[in-house]
Amino acid sequence: MELDLHDRVVVVTGGARGIGAGIANRMVAERARAVVLDLDFPDGVPDDRVGIACDVTDAASVQGAIAEAVDRFGTVDVLINNAGILVEGAVADLDPARFKACMDVNVGGVFLASQAVIPVMQRAGRGRIINAASFAAIVPSVGSAAYAASKAAVVQFTRVLASELGPWGITVNAYAPGMVPTTLNGFATMPQAAQDRLLDTLSLRRWETPDDIADLLVFLASDAAGYITGTLIDVSGGKLATQIPAK
Ligand code: NAD
Repeated sequence: MELDLHDRVVVVTGGARGIGAGIANRMVAERARAVVLDLDFPDGVPDDRVGIACDVTDAASVQGAIAEAVDRFGTVDVLINNAGILVEGAVADLDPARFKACMDVNVGGVFLASQAVIPVMQRAGRGRIINAASFAAIVPSVGSAAYAASKAAVVQFTRVLASELGPWGITVNAYAPGMVPTTLNGFATMPQAAQDRLLDTLSLRRWETPDDIADLLVFLASDAAGYITGTLIDVSGGKLATQIPAK
Protein backbone atom coordinates (compact mmCIF):
# COMPACT_ATOMS: atom_id res chain seq x y z
CA MET A 1 0.00 0.00 0.00
CA GLU A 2 1.39 3.41 -1.00
CA LEU A 3 1.32 5.72 2.05
CA ASP A 4 4.36 7.80 1.09
CA LEU A 5 3.89 11.48 1.98
CA HIS A 6 7.43 12.47 1.05
CA ASP A 7 7.49 16.22 0.16
CA ARG A 8 3.71 16.51 0.28
CA VAL A 9 2.77 19.92 1.67
CA VAL A 10 0.45 19.38 4.62
CA VAL A 11 -1.25 22.32 6.36
CA VAL A 12 -2.59 21.63 9.85
CA THR A 13 -4.80 24.27 11.44
CA GLY A 14 -4.64 24.54 15.23
CA GLY A 15 -1.32 22.75 15.07
CA ALA A 16 0.49 24.47 17.94
CA ARG A 17 -0.70 22.06 20.62
CA GLY A 18 -2.89 19.07 21.39
CA ILE A 19 -4.01 16.74 18.62
CA GLY A 20 -2.89 19.19 15.92
CA ALA A 21 0.69 19.20 17.19
CA GLY A 22 0.63 15.40 17.28
CA ILE A 23 -0.65 15.30 13.69
CA ALA A 24 2.11 17.70 12.59
CA ASN A 25 4.73 15.56 14.37
CA ARG A 26 3.55 12.53 12.45
CA MET A 27 3.46 14.34 9.11
CA VAL A 28 7.08 15.40 9.66
CA ALA A 29 7.97 11.80 10.55
CA GLU A 30 6.36 10.76 7.24
CA ARG A 31 8.71 13.26 5.50
CA ALA A 32 5.92 15.65 4.55
CA ARG A 33 6.46 19.42 4.63
CA ALA A 34 4.31 20.46 7.57
CA VAL A 35 2.85 23.94 7.89
CA VAL A 36 1.03 24.65 11.13
CA LEU A 37 -1.45 27.50 11.50
CA ASP A 38 -2.48 28.70 14.94
CA LEU A 39 -3.43 31.81 16.89
CA ASP A 40 -0.02 31.81 18.53
CA PHE A 41 2.87 29.52 19.38
CA PRO A 42 3.54 29.87 23.10
CA ASP A 43 5.96 26.92 23.02
CA GLY A 44 7.73 28.09 19.84
CA VAL A 45 7.78 26.27 16.48
CA PRO A 46 10.09 23.25 16.04
CA ASP A 47 12.69 23.62 13.24
CA ASP A 48 11.20 20.75 11.25
CA ARG A 49 7.99 22.65 10.36
CA VAL A 50 6.74 26.09 9.40
CA GLY A 51 4.48 27.95 11.83
CA ILE A 52 2.19 30.74 10.63
CA ALA A 53 0.11 32.87 12.98
CA CYS A 54 -3.48 32.67 11.76
CA ASP A 55 -6.99 33.04 13.11
CA VAL A 56 -9.21 30.62 11.21
CA THR A 57 -12.25 32.81 11.86
CA ASP A 58 -10.71 35.68 9.88
CA ALA A 59 -10.88 35.35 6.08
CA ALA A 60 -7.94 37.68 5.38
CA SER A 61 -5.79 35.93 7.97
CA VAL A 62 -6.54 32.51 6.47
CA GLN A 63 -6.00 33.68 2.87
CA GLY A 64 -2.68 35.23 3.92
CA ALA A 65 -1.52 32.07 5.70
CA ILE A 66 -2.34 29.80 2.76
CA ALA A 67 -0.65 32.26 0.36
CA GLU A 68 2.45 32.14 2.59
CA ALA A 69 2.44 28.33 2.54
CA VAL A 70 2.17 28.35 -1.26
CA ASP A 71 4.96 30.97 -1.55
CA ARG A 72 7.14 28.78 0.56
CA PHE A 73 6.46 25.33 -0.92
CA GLY A 74 4.64 25.97 -4.22
CA THR A 75 1.37 24.25 -3.33
CA VAL A 76 -0.82 22.73 -0.62
CA ASP A 77 -1.44 19.01 -1.10
CA VAL A 78 -3.29 18.33 2.13
CA LEU A 79 -5.34 20.56 4.41
CA ILE A 80 -6.19 19.20 7.84
CA ASN A 81 -8.86 21.36 9.44
CA ASN A 82 -8.09 20.50 13.04
CA ALA A 83 -8.55 23.85 14.83
CA GLY A 84 -11.54 23.73 17.13
CA ILE A 85 -12.90 24.92 20.44
CA LEU A 86 -15.21 23.26 22.94
CA VAL A 87 -18.14 25.33 24.18
CA GLU A 88 -20.35 23.66 26.76
CA GLY A 89 -23.53 24.68 28.53
CA ALA A 90 -27.23 23.94 28.53
CA VAL A 91 -29.05 25.83 25.79
CA ALA A 92 -31.23 27.63 28.36
CA ASP A 93 -28.19 29.30 29.89
CA LEU A 94 -25.71 29.50 27.04
CA ASP A 95 -24.35 32.93 26.17
CA PRO A 96 -25.22 33.55 22.50
CA ALA A 97 -21.71 34.96 21.97
CA ARG A 98 -20.18 31.63 23.03
CA PHE A 99 -22.52 29.72 20.70
CA LYS A 100 -21.46 31.98 17.85
CA ALA A 101 -17.76 31.63 18.70
CA CYS A 102 -18.12 27.85 18.57
CA MET A 103 -19.71 28.02 15.12
CA ASP A 104 -17.19 30.59 13.90
CA VAL A 105 -14.16 28.45 14.76
CA ASN A 106 -15.46 24.92 14.25
CA VAL A 107 -17.54 25.48 11.11
CA GLY A 108 -16.48 28.90 9.82
CA GLY A 109 -12.81 27.99 10.17
CA VAL A 110 -13.29 24.82 8.12
CA PHE A 111 -15.13 26.85 5.47
CA LEU A 112 -12.52 29.62 5.25
CA ALA A 113 -9.47 27.35 5.14
CA SER A 114 -11.13 25.08 2.58
CA GLN A 115 -12.05 28.07 0.45
CA ALA A 116 -8.47 29.32 0.57
CA VAL A 117 -6.95 26.03 -0.66
CA ILE A 118 -9.55 25.20 -3.32
CA PRO A 119 -7.95 27.20 -6.18
CA VAL A 120 -4.51 25.84 -5.27
CA MET A 121 -5.75 22.24 -5.32
CA GLN A 122 -7.83 22.77 -8.45
CA ARG A 123 -4.73 24.05 -10.25
CA ALA A 124 -2.83 20.96 -9.11
CA GLY A 125 -5.66 18.63 -10.10
CA ARG A 126 -5.44 16.83 -6.79
CA GLY A 127 -5.73 17.42 -3.07
CA ARG A 128 -7.01 16.23 0.27
CA ILE A 129 -9.17 18.18 2.68
CA ILE A 130 -9.62 16.40 6.00
CA ASN A 131 -11.90 17.84 8.66
CA ALA A 132 -12.02 17.26 12.42
CA ALA A 133 -15.52 16.31 13.46
CA SER A 134 -16.18 14.42 16.69
CA PHE A 135 -18.22 11.58 18.13
CA ALA A 136 -20.36 14.47 19.41
CA ALA A 137 -21.63 14.96 15.85
CA ILE A 138 -23.49 11.67 16.34
CA VAL A 139 -23.93 11.08 20.10
CA PRO A 140 -25.99 13.71 21.94
CA SER A 141 -25.09 14.64 25.50
CA VAL A 142 -26.59 17.26 27.78
CA GLY A 143 -24.71 20.55 27.57
CA SER A 144 -23.09 19.84 24.20
CA ALA A 145 -25.59 21.55 21.87
CA ALA A 146 -23.24 24.20 20.48
CA TYR A 147 -20.27 21.89 20.01
CA ALA A 148 -22.34 18.95 18.76
CA ALA A 149 -24.20 21.13 16.26
CA SER A 150 -20.92 22.59 15.00
CA LYS A 151 -19.42 19.14 14.47
CA ALA A 152 -22.56 17.80 12.79
CA ALA A 153 -22.32 20.81 10.47
CA VAL A 154 -18.72 19.86 9.65
CA VAL A 155 -19.91 16.39 8.60
CA GLN A 156 -22.51 17.70 6.17
CA PHE A 157 -20.16 20.45 4.91
CA THR A 158 -17.69 17.65 4.15
CA ARG A 159 -20.21 15.69 2.09
CA VAL A 160 -21.23 18.71 0.04
CA LEU A 161 -17.66 19.87 -0.55
CA ALA A 162 -16.67 16.35 -1.62
CA SER A 163 -19.30 16.54 -4.38
CA GLU A 164 -18.18 20.00 -5.42
CA LEU A 165 -14.47 19.11 -5.63
CA GLY A 166 -14.66 15.52 -6.87
CA PRO A 167 -14.31 16.54 -10.53
CA TRP A 168 -10.83 17.95 -9.74
CA GLY A 169 -9.67 14.75 -8.06
CA ILE A 170 -9.82 16.41 -4.65
CA THR A 171 -11.15 14.27 -1.81
CA VAL A 172 -12.86 15.68 1.28
CA ASN A 173 -13.39 13.60 4.39
CA ALA A 174 -14.14 14.04 8.08
CA TYR A 175 -13.07 12.00 11.08
CA ALA A 176 -14.62 11.53 14.47
CA PRO A 177 -12.18 11.20 17.36
CA GLY A 178 -13.39 9.98 20.74
CA MET A 179 -11.63 11.28 23.83
CA VAL A 180 -8.08 12.54 23.71
CA PRO A 181 -6.86 14.12 26.96
CA THR A 182 -6.00 17.71 25.89
CA THR A 183 -6.50 21.29 27.02
CA LEU A 184 -9.77 21.32 25.06
CA ASN A 185 -11.67 19.01 27.38
CA GLY A 186 -10.09 20.12 30.67
CA PHE A 187 -9.12 16.54 31.27
CA ALA A 188 -6.32 17.39 33.69
CA THR A 189 -8.76 18.81 36.25
CA MET A 190 -11.55 16.24 35.77
CA PRO A 191 -12.39 14.28 38.96
CA GLN A 192 -11.29 10.63 38.86
CA ALA A 193 -14.88 9.34 39.14
CA ALA A 194 -15.87 11.35 36.06
CA GLN A 195 -12.85 10.05 34.18
CA ASP A 196 -13.76 6.48 35.10
CA ARG A 197 -17.33 6.96 33.90
CA LEU A 198 -16.15 8.34 30.59
CA LEU A 199 -13.59 5.60 30.09
CA ASP A 200 -16.39 3.05 30.40
CA THR A 201 -18.08 4.62 27.36
CA LEU A 202 -15.13 3.66 25.13
CA SER A 203 -15.20 0.10 23.81
CA LEU A 204 -11.41 -0.07 23.95
CA ARG A 205 -11.31 1.28 27.55
CA ARG A 206 -8.28 3.47 26.94
CA TRP A 207 -7.88 7.15 26.19
CA GLU A 208 -7.17 8.07 22.61
CA THR A 209 -3.81 9.55 21.62
CA PRO A 210 -3.02 12.00 18.82
CA ASP A 211 -1.14 9.12 17.16
CA ASP A 212 -4.35 7.07 16.96
CA ILE A 213 -5.75 9.89 14.83
CA ALA A 214 -2.54 10.53 12.90
CA ASP A 215 -2.49 6.86 11.79
CA LEU A 216 -5.80 7.45 10.02
CA LEU A 217 -4.80 10.83 8.64
CA VAL A 218 -1.61 9.52 7.04
CA PHE A 219 -3.77 7.00 5.20
CA LEU A 220 -6.39 9.58 4.19
CA ALA A 221 -3.66 11.96 2.99
CA SER A 222 -1.98 9.27 0.92
CA ASP A 223 -2.56 8.03 -2.62
CA ALA A 224 -3.97 4.83 -1.13
CA ALA A 225 -7.11 6.71 -0.04
CA GLY A 226 -7.75 8.21 -3.49
CA TYR A 227 -11.22 6.70 -3.87
CA ILE A 228 -12.51 7.63 -0.40
CA THR A 229 -14.43 10.88 -0.27
CA GLY A 230 -17.41 12.54 1.39
CA THR A 231 -17.38 10.28 4.40
CA LEU A 232 -17.10 10.47 8.18
CA ILE A 233 -14.58 8.02 9.57
CA ASP A 234 -15.02 6.88 13.14
CA VAL A 235 -11.72 6.87 15.02
CA SER A 236 -13.25 7.02 18.47
CA GLY A 237 -12.21 3.68 19.98
CA GLY A 238 -15.81 2.54 20.03
CA LYS A 239 -17.49 5.65 21.40
CA LEU A 240 -20.05 5.34 18.61
CA ALA A 241 -20.85 1.73 19.46
CA THR A 242 -23.92 1.52 21.66
CA GLN A 243 -22.89 0.48 25.13
CA ILE A 244 -25.40 -0.86 27.59
CA PRO A 245 -23.90 -1.12 31.08
CA ALA A 246 -23.75 -4.68 32.48
CA LYS A 247 -26.35 -5.36 35.19
P1 NAD B 1 -6.74 21.88 21.83
O1 NAD B 1 -7.54 22.93 22.52
O2 NAD B 1 -5.71 21.13 22.61
O3 NAD B 1 -6.04 22.49 20.53
C1 NAD B 1 -6.78 23.24 19.61
C2 NAD B 1 -5.84 24.16 18.86
O4 NAD B 1 -6.65 24.97 17.98
C3 NAD B 1 -5.08 25.12 19.79
O5 NAD B 1 -3.71 25.14 19.47
C4 NAD B 1 -5.76 26.46 19.55
O6 NAD B 1 -4.91 27.58 19.73
C5 NAD B 1 -6.19 26.31 18.09
N1 NAD B 1 -7.25 27.26 17.75
C6 NAD B 1 -8.37 27.54 18.45
N2 NAD B 1 -9.05 28.56 17.88
C7 NAD B 1 -8.33 28.91 16.78
C8 NAD B 1 -8.50 29.90 15.78
N3 NAD B 1 -9.54 30.75 15.80
N4 NAD B 1 -7.57 30.00 14.80
C9 NAD B 1 -6.50 29.15 14.77
N5 NAD B 1 -6.29 28.20 15.69
C10 NAD B 1 -7.19 28.08 16.69
O7 NAD B 1 -7.82 20.88 21.19
P2 NAD B 1 -7.65 19.35 20.71
O8 NAD B 1 -8.23 18.49 21.78
O9 NAD B 1 -6.29 19.13 20.22
O10 NAD B 1 -8.71 19.34 19.51
C11 NAD B 1 -8.33 19.41 18.14
C12 NAD B 1 -9.57 19.11 17.28
O11 NAD B 1 -10.05 17.78 17.56
C13 NAD B 1 -10.75 20.06 17.54
O12 NAD B 1 -11.40 20.33 16.33
C14 NAD B 1 -11.65 19.23 18.44
O13 NAD B 1 -13.00 19.64 18.37
C15 NAD B 1 -11.43 17.84 17.88
N6 NAD B 1 -11.75 16.79 18.83
C16 NAD B 1 -11.07 16.66 20.00
C17 NAD B 1 -11.40 15.64 20.89
C18 NAD B 1 -10.68 15.45 22.19
O14 NAD B 1 -11.04 14.54 22.94
N7 NAD B 1 -9.67 16.25 22.51
C19 NAD B 1 -12.46 14.76 20.57
C20 NAD B 1 -13.13 14.92 19.36
C21 NAD B 1 -12.76 15.93 18.49
